[in-house]
Amino acid sequence: MVKTPEQEHPVEAFGWAARDTTGHLSPFNFSRRATGDEDVRFKVLYCGICHTDLSSIKNEWGICTYPIVPGHELVGEVTEVGSMVKKTNVGDRVGVGAVVGACHDCDNCNNDLEIYCPKMVLTYSSIYHDGTVTYGGYSDTMVANERYIVHFPDNMPLDGGAPLLCAGITMYSPLKYFGLAEPGKHIGIVGLGGLGHVGVKFAKAFGAKVTVISTSPSKKDEALKQFGADSFLVSRDHDQMQAAMGTFDGIIDTVSAVHAISPLIDLLKSHGKLIMVGAPDKPLELPVYPLLMGRKLVAGSAIGGMKETQEMIDFAAKHNITAEIEVVSMDYVNTAMKRLAKNDVRYRFVIDVGNTLAATRP
Ligand code: NAP
Ligand code: ZN
Repeated sequence: MVKTPEQEHPVEAFGWAARDTTGHLSPFNFSRRATGDEDVRFKVLYCGICHTDLSSIKNEWGICTYPIVPGHELVGEVTEVGSMVKKTNVGDRVGVGAVVGACHDCDNCNNDLEIYCPKMVLTYSSIYHDGTVTYGGYSDTMVANERYIVHFPDNMPLDGGAPLLCAGITMYSPLKYFGLAEPGKHIGIVGLGGLGHVGVKFAKAFGAKVTVISTSPSKKDEALKQFGADSFLVSRDHDQMQAAMGTFDGIIDTVSAVHAISPLIDLLKSHGKLIMVGAPDKPLELPVYPLLMGRKLVAGSAIGGMKETQEMIDFAAKHNITAEIEVVSMDYVNTAMKRLAKNDVRYRFVIDVGNTLAATRP
């Protein structure tokens, strides 16, 4: 007999799930595994809403199976640890990002790059090692192997820190890996959304000169005054783009929709790097000639490994970097998704799971 999500595991769990491509979320009973020897269990207190959650519940990339409990920026307080857990104690403030499993044996895993392991397991809508479906952070409890647990320093707030678990590491990792986390580099951040705004903060903390490249002139003041960007380019303003040609060492593109990258390649100096982290649902056009003329590089990057994620959180705590958030209740989630789709969030929704989920039980 096939077990229902409620019957699969011994521990009761409750969250909100999407059941079909409308992406509408509603209350959902399921279950979580018992705390294994290497596992950490925690009560979820907050969970960020990443644009990936929106694309997933609508199955825009065609890789998800329903029901989907989204959420891969979840934080909370540890309630139980397995017998072989080494660095985590009951009561600790912890979080989980986009990944909860990998083979731990391949070249990628041995280099602390679980995200690039062929057997990598995503936090939701993925098949775990035991054959069951993974469910994310729009839920009351979480259990994960300790390797995927991120420890929050004392001065890092749980609500404003939650988005760093995906948005933060997705910007931090390419800045470091591609040699862009250096004083004096001119870095462009395309798209001032959840990822983009923390990208500005990290790039500034690395000592770079940062320019936001945006379709929303209304975000200029916040970009410059609140996030510390040095300048702001409106990508639809041809004259502004023309004047900035050939001035960037690196550009991180966070745009979630199909868009032209040719104007961004033109912004790069020779040997400049355009790093794609946004995930549009259709291929983008790649003009080759402008790449040749200047030995420019276009690359991609996905979140980051677990060791680097901890390093990023510790760095953020040291430099007082948190996300700019709008905290919402669980029953607001469908409205939040609609607003996110319309680019109407400054700059990340975070669900107050701890205080508002229980009241939504049918
Ligand atoms: P978000 O908060 O919606 O931000 C995306 C930003 O892109 C918007 O704020 C907007 O900035 C800009 N934008 C939106 N539509 C646009 C359009 N049609 N043309 C040009 N610019 C547009 O989303 P997010 O949570 O930051 O996620 C961004 C993307 O990264 C998503 O595709 C997500 O799935 C992906 N992602 C990838 C990874 C990874 O590991 N690589 C991790 C997390 C998320 P302006 O108003 O400033 O133009
Ligand atoms: Zn994400």
